[in-house]
Amino acid sequence: MPQARHQEQPGGPLLGCLLILCRLHERKLTPDAALAGLPLVDNALTPSVFHRAARRAGLTSRVQRHSLAALNSSLLPAVLLFNDHTACVITGINNEQQTARVIWPELADAEVTVPLDSLEQQYTGNLIYAQPEFHFDERAPGNSRRAQGHWFWSVIADNRHLYRDIIIAAIMINLLAVAMPLFVMNIYDRVVPNHATHTLWVLAVGVLVVLCADLGLRLMRGWFVDLGASRADVRLSASIMEQILGMKLSERPASAGSFASNVQSFESVRGFIGSVTLVALVDLPFMLVFCLIIGLINGLLVIPIIVGALAVLGYAALAQRKMRKLSDTMNRASAMRNATLIESLGNLETIKTTGAESKMQGNWENSILFLSKLTTRMRLLASSVSNGALWAQHVVAVSLIILGVYLIREGQLTQGGLIACYLLSSRAMSPVGQAAALLSQYHHAVTAMDSLNGIMARPRERSNDRHRVSRPIQQGDIEFRHVNFTYPNAERPALTDVSFRIRAGEHVAILGRNGSGKSTLERLMLGLYEPDAGTILMDGTDIRQLDPAELRRGMGYVPQDVSLFYGTLRDNLVLGMPHVEDAHMVQAAEQSGLSDFINTHPSGFDMQVGERGQLLSGGQRQAVAIARALLKESPVLLLDEPTGSLDQRNEEQIKHSLQHCAKGRTMVLVTHRSTLLSLVDRIIVVDNGQVVANGPKAEVLDALRQGKIGSAA
Ligand code: ADP
Ligand code: MG
Repeated sequence: MPQARHQEQPGGPLLGCLLILCRLHERKLTPDAALAGLPLVDNALTPSVFHRAARRAGLTSRVQRHSLAALNSSLLPAVLLFNDHTACVITGINNEQQTARVIWPELADAEVTVPLDSLEQQYTGNLIYAQPEFHFDERAPGNSRRAQGHWFWSVIADNRHLYRDIIIAAIMINLLAVAMPLFVMNIYDRVVPNHATHTLWVLAVGVLVVLCADLGLRLMRGWFVDLGASRADVRLSASIMEQILGMKLSERPASAGSFASNVQSFESVRGFIGSVTLVALVDLPFMLVFCLIIGLINGLLVIPIIVGALAVLGYAALAQRKMRKLSDTMNRASAMRNATLIESLGNLETIKTTGAESKMQGNWENSILFLSKLTTRMRLLASSVSNGALWAQHVVAVSLIILGVYLIREGQLTQGGLIACYLLSSRAMSPVGQAAALLSQYHHAVTAMDSLNGIMARPRERSNDRHRVSRPIQQGDIEFRHVNFTYPNAERPALTDVSFRIRAGEHVAILGRNGSGKSTLERLMLGLYEPDAGTILMDGTDIRQLDPAELRRGMGYVPQDVSLFYGTLRDNLVLGMPHVEDAHMVQAAEQSGLSDFINTHPSGFDMQVGERGQLLSGGQRQAVAIARALLKESPVLLLDEPTGSLDQRNEEQIKHSLQHCAKGRTMVLVTHRSTLLSLVDRIIVVDNGQVVANGPKAEVLDALRQGKIGSAA
């Protein structure tokens, strides 16, 4: 085994193996696309998430225990996992000579033949099989999303073995349930009149065995239901988050709070699939079995049960309709309430300083009032269903007894028979009550599913049906060709027919009034939004062809409003970057003017910045973003009013650092500060979403001074 095989590659050995598998199966996958958004450990792909990366290349994979000796060559190539967290791809096996052909990810494409023994020493016993999925192209009609399976039902279907066992357990429980009434009937009719204690004990032992079996089955059923729910929960929650993070920015919901409330409604879906009452639905058909047995004892006694059950189910179905409507309204109202809460929490300072407390309080109280009215009505309906079912169960029992007494008088029924029928009737009615209660929970789950379906159907940045090329940005040549862009739901276009070219290594300033579209230009360069018309080329390639993660890795970006994440300053500086040396980080902090502040702070780089970076000042946050962009050493630097909140001294420092750092890189600088203009060679002026001037700095500045550059409006 090659020795110097340790980690260095980003993504770890498993990513290397995955890329080899893709090549062998002629699937396209870029490293960035494979890893984007997956939870990594030490920046390396782990076996537990391997299948999610593989699926992006159209491969299905699964980890399996398998001895090397018994390996089936028809399933190769596969990935062998070794004890030292390395891995290799095995492409062939020769059982006679005891050798295998393998490819080490760190040795690029070379296939080598090695003795099986040498592999065996380190082999963990686990390997990953990967097979290509059948890939439909555009000629095959049909919905590609549907072909991948529904996000929810396909996960449930994967647990079908579990659900089959649950159903089998439910069937057995129901069959065993007949034992108790029969036992009581025989005691009354045979044992008590004859004082037959022997028979009593035999029957008692029998029924005890049945009861124990029943207990075991019930425990098992509950455990399986929980297991199924928790397995599904893990996968579903992961796929919901993946969808949220992978969603196109243009699909971003208008309100974070209400969106969060929709996502949280997944709880009610989970509660529904995790509840044993759902399993009670399986019990419903057994009502007929119980009725049949009662019918065998005496046919007339079945009538009250049938009437009662129909009445309960009918009422539940009626109530359910009403509840569905209420639940929809409730869902929307609670989304609004959550939106008010989240917005208030995020803007406490503004609320206090502008005196908006009463407005927010008013919004909050209104939605609470509305919600509480709805909740009361909902509760009333739900309790009318469950209490009604209980009432019906008792009424059925009473009518059955009245009827039974008459039948006993006529000599058509024994006393034991009456008691058995009474017990069986409550057994038959209880799933009816449960089904009714279930109907009243069902609408919650359905409403939640509806809104989750809506979220899951939103387009993603990285769709499975588009294959991207792996082409890291090298020069940083940016070109806009007749780009039009309107924000979703906006009335006016933000950019109209914008064309310009920024050559690799050029330093360009973008000037313009507020709202003229400067930040929008940079967002489009980052691929955060796609133009409605026209193309944006990066190094001559349409950026829609590039994987978004790869595109953004090539750009250092300082946004206009900097937001940090809860954590230390260090965490925030190296965010999203795999290996950063401390020396580098310190240097970047110096260049961005952060070092004075860091050096005098007791915790230095380990200081807490707070949620959204609120423990830092606006200028300090901006400096962090600049340091982050400089650390990235990317060929392109996009700076959106980078010194907007900085003091003059800091600005000078940044200017100095940029002079040095931007050498050899493309820099696009949006600014209102004339001092920074010394950094650029060319100026593009935008107004009202249109380019109104584009030329060498001196010329454009002259024209601006003389008022020759008019507004586009
Ligand atoms: P600036 O030149 O000040 O950076 P922007 O590029 O941020 O201007 O905005 C350009 C126009 O687009 C503005 O009219 C603004 O109202 C609109 N706009 C900006 N962001 C959004 C958004 N997320 N959704 C809708 N409209 C937006
Ligand atoms: Mg802006």
